[in-house]
Amino acid sequence: MRDTLALPGAGQERLDRIVRLIADSMRTEVCSIYLFRDAETLELCATEGLKKAAVHRTRLRLGEGLVGRVARSATPINTGNAPAEKGFRYMPETGEEIFSSFLGVPIQRLGERMGVLVVQSKEARQFSDDEVYALEVVAMVLAEMAELGAFVGEGEALGARHKQPVMFRGVMGQEGAAEGQVWLHEPRVVVTNPVADDPKAELERLHAAMEVLRGSVETLIAEADGSDAEHREVLEAYRMFTQSKGWMRRMEEDIARGLSAEAAVEKEQSAARARMEQVPDPYLRERLQDLDDLSNRLLRILTGQGRDTGAEMPDNPILVARNIGPGELLEYGRRLKGVVLEEGSVGSHAAIVARALAIPLVIQAERITTEALNGDHILVDGDQGIVHLRPEDSVASAFRDKIAMAAKAQERYASIRDLPAEARCGTRISLQMNAGLMADLPSLPSSGAEGVGLFRTELQFLIRASVPRRGELAALYARVMDAARGKRVVFRTLDIGSDKVLPYMKRPDEPNPALGWRAIRVGLDRPGVMRMQLQALIRAAAGRPLAVMFPFVAQMDEYFAARRHLEQELEREARLGHRLPERVEIGAMLETPSLAFAPRRFFEATDFVSIGGNDLKQFFFAADRENELVRRRYDTLNTSYLGLIAHIVARCAETGTPLSFCGEDAGRPVEAVCLAAMGIRSLSMRPASIGPVKHLIRRVDLGALRDVIDAACARGEATVRPAVTDFLKAAV
Ligand code: PEP
Ligand code: MG
Repeated sequence: MRDTLALPGAGQERLDRIVRLIADSMRTEVCSIYLFRDAETLELCATEGLKKAAVHRTRLRLGEGLVGRVARSATPINTGNAPAEKGFRYMPETGEEIFSSFLGVPIQRLGERMGVLVVQSKEARQFSDDEVYALEVVAMVLAEMAELGAFVGEGEALGARHKQPVMFRGVMGQEGAAEGQVWLHEPRVVVTNPVADDPKAELERLHAAMEVLRGSVETLIAEADGSDAEHREVLEAYRMFTQSKGWMRRMEEDIARGLSAEAAVEKEQSAARARMEQVPDPYLRERLQDLDDLSNRLLRILTGQGRDTGAEMPDNPILVARNIGPGELLEYGRRLKGVVLEEGSVGSHAAIVARALAIPLVIQAERITTEALNGDHILVDGDQGIVHLRPEDSVASAFRDKIAMAAKAQERYASIRDLPAEARCGTRISLQMNAGLMADLPSLPSSGAEGVGLFRTELQFLIRASVPRRGELAALYARVMDAARGKRVVFRTLDIGSDKVLPYMKRPDEPNPALGWRAIRVGLDRPGVMRMQLQALIRAAAGRPLAVMFPFVAQMDEYFAARRHLEQELEREARLGHRLPERVEIGAMLETPSLAFAPRRFFEATDFVSIGGNDLKQFFFAADRENELVRRRYDTLNTSYLGLIAHIVARCAETGTPLSFCGEDAGRPVEAVCLAAMGIRSLSMRPASIGPVKHLIRRVDLGALRDVIDAACARGEATVRPAVTDFLKAAV
């Protein structure tokens, strides 16, 4: 049989020959191949034993009949009495009523369903395990041939699979729209030799590759010493799999039946992926995912294909990956036009980096790595969390209109770049930008921002394998200040914990990390790293002004303690003879409602307060900012939230404490004008938002807007959004 599968020939002819041969060797009257026509429809593409006229005519929907059931569940059906089976469907055109036994197995590659291979016989008998297995192996080889384009032409049903447009509904990770070509971060390993002649040699290859894999997992485990428990747990699971006798035995059996070592790995990987789709338990799914990852590594070892397949990066690359680490994403940097991930969360490191790079990002686009091929045309809509793969022309042209409109708007904003953000009523709002990378700084002059209101310092810590050195950090911070050319930069000290986990820092297992040991809490309990960072900042300033703020201050004592650390570092640096900053401002981020109710002496002591709206909102509403089920449920323009903002504004006004707002809401024009109307005079946002926010501020009378907000509150509205929207429509 192996020889026939390897025979050349035109698509249909080959399929016909294959079904004849399978029927013959399995001693069944019928053998048929059904392939997916589209995601929902299977088509009979070749048969031995059924009426030939039914070929390319008989179609089944997914789940319909026994064939449809095999396709849907991706598991074999083996029965001696097919007509009595649940879901049996009589198809007169095929003349199949006379066949009692039915064995159908899925044709799939890497969990991607391609069709169903069926044998049937008149004799009422159950097929043996060996026969089921043999048919599965044949199905797998068929899948490989199809992937190689063997049937393109006649077997369009199969070849067309990777040509059709597909839309993915994911989750918004970073706003913006981009058009380009797919660049797979981990291109698929192409197995070109599904069958092999010398099982002994293949077994040796498999064993040797497994040894290499075991060695690499041991190295990973040794390197992970000291990292967090979860990370180690994953690696332990990897180790367990590499020693799994069951996995090895199944692959050895595949090889004994004539598969190459690569094909054996892939066959088991396919089976695991199919199982993965059925398993509801998240823990088990993750373990299956681990096995999937290990299979990929094993395939790379066997084929010698690394990540670098020699393919050239397209002009407008859109990175497609299951997931990606922050360091890897930074390496690609601004060359990428967009990023689409199968996994990831809003607060994941990759998302943080994508945001810092201002690249449109869609996360949780399920199955995109299986659907996309390198070079495919792709559209990424980060605003909606939608991705179009191989789009129809009409979709692409509508999308281009959208990009063009956004570009036009940016041009319009460029014309007001050097004008102040002065509202109709004459109130001036200071617009600042958020940054986190050195690479962000060049956009400071072109964005029209007056300074950097929030410099997130954690990226430099997240992307390294060990704690960065003081000298390195001092040099980087100095470069940031140089690039700002005298404009104020507010450095936020390390904000880790919660979703931001340093691979090299021991961390306790926490049931609820967002409410746990994070930000300033870590800084105060383990002051070593925070003090080192403060020294680096002082040295970087050397004669220039320095602004530092501490994240996540929940009670005033934390602020006082952190401030003391900074003052001690200043004294120490002075003793060591280093040049001190010209002046130092020490602020606190207000990210928990509690700080809004701190004693007056906190507001008197702090040099400034910056509202971290992302966290503040999550704690005010008790709604996880990363959880899609709840994160959009609570409106920023909710009257109770605006009440809290008004309270904070009043507290700062009492003591004359400068107040700013640096969460994502500051970059949303409607929210931004409302915050300004509530009395916040400084807003810090992504550079790309400065234009749209300034544009709206310049058209609004903040006093009149405040009246609208107050009136909606007085009427007992839950949110002021409808009233504000009506007002803006009429006024702007
Ligand atoms: C915030 O919480 O609003 C904030 C600016 O900090 P981050 O988003 O980095 O937690
Ligand atoms: Mg925060």
